Amino acid sequence: MPKIIRKRKTSGVGLILELVGLILLFVFPLGTIFGIAFLIYGFNKSKKNVCSECGNKIEDKDVKICPFCKASFAKV
Ligand SMILES: [Zn+2]
Repeated sequence: MPKIIRKRKTSGVGLILELVGLILLFVFPLGTIFGIAFLIYGFNKSKKNVCSECGNKIEDKDVKICPFCKASFAKV
């Protein structure tokens, strides 16, 4: 059954943001706040939605049909 899966990117901006966030966590108190924000942002950045059938990136996770291979995603 085709579906949208979330994959973690192995490199890129997300990873850097996560690292910066992690370091900032130890700079109390302002860094802690920014660190958490960076971590969340970086975490979201390093995830991407892909079609399980063709592996292409899906920008909108609410699409019903894959724009590349026309597979229809079943809602779980
Ligand atoms: Zn597809």
